[in-house]
Amino acid sequence: MSVDKLFYRPKYAQWSYWERELGWDQRTTSYLGYKPLENTYDFVVVGAGFTGLSAAYHLAKIHPSAKIALLDRYLPPLGASTRNAGFACIGTVGEFIADSHLEQRERVWDRMYERWQGLSLLRSILGDQVIEYEPLGGHELFTEQDEFERVSAYLDSCNTALKKRTGLDHWYKPTKVNGYNAIQMPREGQLQPAKAWARFAQLCEQMGIHLAWGRCLVDITKKMDRIKLTAENGRKGAHQFHSSSVILTTNAFSALLDDDVSVSPGRGLVLLTKAIDSQPWQGTFHADHGYIYFRNVGPDRLLLGGARHMDISGETTTQFGINKEIKAFLLRYMKEVIGIDPGVVEYEWSGIMGFTPDKNPVIRADTSRNMVWAVGLSGMGVALSTKLGRQAAEFF
Ligand SMILES: Cc1cc2nc3c(=O)[nH]c(=O)nc-3n(C[C@H](O)[C@H](O)[C@H](O)COP(=O)(O)OP(=O)(O)OC[C@H]3O[C@@H](n4cnc5c(N)ncnc54)[C@H](O)[C@@H]3O)c2cc1C
Repeated sequence: MSVDKLFYRPKYAQWSYWERELGWDQRTTSYLGYKPLENTYDFVVVGAGFTGLSAAYHLAKIHPSAKIALLDRYLPPLGASTRNAGFACIGTVGEFIADSHLEQRERVWDRMYERWQGLSLLRSILGDQVIEYEPLGGHELFTEQDEFERVSAYLDSCNTALKKRTGLDHWYKPTKVNGYNAIQMPREGQLQPAKAWARFAQLCEQMGIHLAWGRCLVDITKKMDRIKLTAENGRKGAHQFHSSSVILTTNAFSALLDDDVSVSPGRGLVLLTKAIDSQPWQGTFHADHGYIYFRNVGPDRLLLGGARHMDISGETTTQFGINKEIKAFLLRYMKEVIGIDPGVVEYEWSGIMGFTPDKNPVIRADTSRNMVWAVGLSGMGVALSTKLGRQAAEFF
């Protein structure tokens, strides 16, 4: 187990804009009902991103009198859930074409539908107002005419497939936006991910779940019908405890605990501008098969992220940090395609995604069925995580 890589503590300057908006500071891990770990539990969930929160929340619904702990190595959690771009999306037509080279088309559409279901579940649990959900719609943007025509050829089949699954029309239609060819996605929305995360954690606390921040799982061993866990807390040292069942929702960091879990890390960079007068891009925007994305934050700011495809091997890492080459690419893109002066960038941060070879998450129980992995959410986990967490809880 290469757990030394898990003990990273970001400086406040590395927090995401979303996390800063919560108004926390870095000195405390006592927010949100923190409790010290006890010695025995019925269920322990390791990793408190959206998937872990959903798993713990649904476990508490299914087993209201069970003793449940949810732990994370840091507060705010240190992966993707509070460091992403906040797109409430199910996938573009361009991404559909790229993914249908990896697996059957029907399966790709099923996954888009699962994202739609996951988003509906997340919104129904948390409420649109508190997560600042805005149904502003989205666009897939094209700078090349022939690429626009190639992708547009799949519009009808995508609309028909999604109508068959959801009963809803009008998923994708061709349009123009700020002079560019685009495919409009009127059903796409956006949210404030850290506020969604904090509300979810608060609900878990209200349901009596033990939330333990600053606890890093460093060892997990099965002994007969019990599982022994060891969690480290830097200064205070290791704490050993037991649980009848465990759900692991450690996403990109899973292979550090068990190298049989085939999830590889993928770092993503996000830049956010200061307020700009008459910021012309409202809604969410995807380009280059989803590798580049941008959106408004409030009416005045612009968030731009992605471009991992500029240095895939450099970004295959569990370490947070800013890739200079990718940042330079994004700044050029901001100037040349988006038409905004890159000098107005105010914040930058990174987050780590967990990718599987076919982009389908891993949901797997061990043979005795008391340990479940629910990991590998890839690039659209805001949408899928709530559903995956519920699936994990339903194993028990
Ligand atoms: C830059 C970026 C932009 C993105 N944009 C979007 C978007 O716009 N829309 C969208 O739908 N998705 C987006 N995603 C993807 C989405 O954020 C993720 O798929 C989703 O948040 C995954 O949730 P999770 O709970 O599975 O994992 P995570 O949020 O990564 O949670 C895993 C948690 O496990 C904890 N952990 C790991 N190992 C241990 C251990 N040993 N002990 C204790 N704790 C541990 C970590 O600290 C972490 O908090 C983006 C991701 C990134 C990085």
